[in-house]
Amino acid sequence: MTTTITALQADSAEGDFTRRPLERRSLRADDVRIAIRYAGICHTDIHQVRNEWGGASYPMTPGHEIIGDVVEVGADVSEFTVGDTVGVGCFADSCMECEACKAGEEQFCSQGVVATYNGQDKDGETTHGGYSQQIVVRDHFVLRIPEGMDAASTTPLLCAGITTYAPLKRYGAGPGVKVGVIGMGGLGHIAVKIAAAMGAEVTVLSRTDSKKEDGLSFGATSYRATEDGSAFQELAGTFDLIINTVGASVSLDSFLGLLGRGGTMVNVGAPSEEQSFQMFSLLTMRRNYAGSMVGGLPETQEMLDFCAKHGITATTELIQADQVAEYYDKVVSGDVRYRAVIDIASLENAS
Ligand SMILES: [Zn+2]
Ligand SMILES: [Zn+2]
Repeated sequence: MTTTITALQADSAEGDFTRRPLERRSLRADDVRIAIRYAGICHTDIHQVRNEWGGASYPMTPGHEIIGDVVEVGADVSEFTVGDTVGVGCFADSCMECEACKAGEEQFCSQGVVATYNGQDKDGETTHGGYSQQIVVRDHFVLRIPEGMDAASTTPLLCAGITTYAPLKRYGAGPGVKVGVIGMGGLGHIAVKIAAAMGAEVTVLSRTDSKKEDGLSFGATSYRATEDGSAFQELAGTFDLIINTVGASVSLDSFLGLLGRGGTMVNVGAPSEEQSFQMFSLLTMRRNYAGSMVGGLPETQEMLDFCAKHGITATTELIQADQVAEYYDKVVSGDVRYRAVIDIASLENAS
C-alpha cells in the first residue's frame, strides 16, 4: 500500500510551486519512512527546477537537505527505530556493489547513484525530494543526527556541509594551512565554519564587504572584498587551498593567482556555462585545479559528528512553504543569510 502525502512541486522551469498529493511507496525490507520536519533550499534545487543543467522532469519535488523523524521501518532495518531524528542528503540509493560504493563513495556509483529528487529509482520511478511531508529511503542512505543538534539549522549540513567538508578534509585544511573561501552564501558560510573548526587560517573572498562582520563571526581570520581588484595583487601566491563555492562564472585566472606553490583550488559550485582559464595559471607555481561533488554516506556521517562536536550548524532563515518561489530569487541574488530552510509543518495538506 502506498501512502499519500502532500508535496510542494514545480511544474515547469518558470518555478511556480503547487501543493499536490504525492504517493510514497510501501516499505521494502530495507526502507525507512521519515516524517519530514525541515527541508533546506540548496542552489542545486534552483538549477534543477529552472532546468539550467538540463534533464528536468516535471512535476518536480526538490529538496536534498532533509531532517525528520522515523515513523516506520522495513523488516530488515536494524540501525533505526521509530522516533529517531534522522537526515537524508543528495542520494537515496546506489548499487552498493561497485568499487566506489564499496569505498563509501556512493556519489560516484558506476551504476549511477539515485539522486534524492529528479533521479530515477531502481523501479524506474522518478524520485521526489524533501519539499514534502514524508520520504521513503533505503536505510544505508539515512544519516543519524547527533543528539543535541538543532534540527532546523542542521538541515543544510546534509548537502552544504558535506559538499564543503569533503574537499577541506581531502586537501588538508588544518593548523598552519591558509584557506580561502570564494563566496559567502549557503555553501561558503559553512565552509568558513568548518575550515576554522579544522584549525585552518581562513580568509573570505567575497565580492563586497557587506558580509564582513558575519564572516569574521563564523571564524574567518580575514575577509577581503574582491570587487576593486586590489586583493588579487596583495594576496597573490598566499593560499594553500581555495574552495570556490560560487555557482556562477568567476575570473578563474585571478583566483588561481592567489594560490601559492603547489596550492589547490577546488570548485564545488556548478556554473551552467563552460569555464576557461589560462594554462599558465596552473603551470607557474605547480598549481592544481580540482572539483568535488558532495560526499559518500560514511563521510557525511563523519561530517555530522564533527559538526556536533564543534557546535557547527548553518546560519538559517526559517521560511514557510508559500515563500519558496520568493526565496529562490533571494538565493540567486545572494540575499539569504545564509541558508533558507522550509518549515514543512507549514505545508498544508493538498485537497
Ligand atoms: Zn545541494
Ligand atoms: Zn555502486
